[in-house]
Amino acid sequence: MSNAIVPPAAVAVVGLGNMGVPMGACLIKAGYVVTGFDLVAQAREKFAAMGGRAASNVASAVAAAEVVIMLLPNGKIVREAVSAMRPHLRPGSVLIDMSSSDPIGTRSLGAELIGAGTGFIDAPVSGGVRRAVTGTLAIMVGGDGATIDRVEPLLRTMGSSIFRTGALGSGHAMKALNNYVSAAGLVAAVEALQVGRKFGLDPALMADILNASSGKNNTTELKLKQFIISETFDDGFPLRLMAKDVRTADDLAHALGIATPLADLCAGLWDAAARELAEKANHTEMIRYMERLPKS
Ligand code: NAD
Repeated sequence: MSNAIVPPAAVAVVGLGNMGVPMGACLIKAGYVVTGFDLVAQAREKFAAMGGRAASNVASAVAAAEVVIMLLPNGKIVREAVSAMRPHLRPGSVLIDMSSSDPIGTRSLGAELIGAGTGFIDAPVSGGVRRAVTGTLAIMVGGDGATIDRVEPLLRTMGSSIFRTGALGSGHAMKALNNYVSAAGLVAAVEALQVGRKFGLDPALMADILNASSGKNNTTELKLKQFIISETFDDGFPLRLMAKDVRTADDLAHALGIATPLADLCAGLWDAAARELAEKANHTEMIRYMERLPKS
């Protein structure tokens, strides 16, 4: 790893939202010189308040950066942001899309960038804001092995499990599939909770029993009591992003010609909830949408 990019190398973080700010903080803590950019002034101010350098435009954020990390809402926005930054990139720099983007779009964007001499890998994350703060995310990395070797020291400041998933786009495919499994598990847990509660079962006891039994999943362990039964709904992962991820997984299944009836149903449910609930609704508020469904 002789050409590994280590502190105090210059790094840009584009997208200073729920994830970009704490992940940028991990890089700063490790000694990287981090410049952040977001279209929203309030986000830039939050980053500056946390000790980062905030740039007022994308050109000045990326100009000196050896690595540009993107934490943007989706792959379409990543493509737009990349178009804006391309003329200003330092030669030989590496772009890392750590957003949860569409894997097919990632492959086509990568073909353009890599063909023009810019490094590009996908490295989406799992673990939410809590694990972004502690630098203990799971990171799924797709792309050229030598490029990943160069940026691995940066990834290690943000994640404790780094998985190399294969070719470019494979990290994004894995991330969408992971969130599909998580989203389907949440819907199943919420349905069971609604039925059990109406039958007279105690919701907290139900969570305890599920967690000691074969129905245990990520929602029963980490979300039922914490955010759903307590009705705090504040784990930092918006419903609109979960809906996007489930749709991405379902689109990938269709593109590959695989029949996934449950994913079709699940993508429809999450899309409908995203349309019905408030723009900022948390994904654990899925129960609010399900409670409004017509009774069978
Ligand atoms: P977010 O909506 O909080 O932040 C995205 C930020 O990008 C916003 O501040 C927005 O203003 C900014 N932005 C949009 N377009 C831009 C552009 N062209 N240039 C610069 N900035 C721009 O989202 P988040 O929760 O931080 O998630 C970021 C990515 O990480 C998403 O793809 C999401 O699916 C993924 N993710 C989120 C979580 C989570 O728990 N929040 C967990 C895992 C993965």
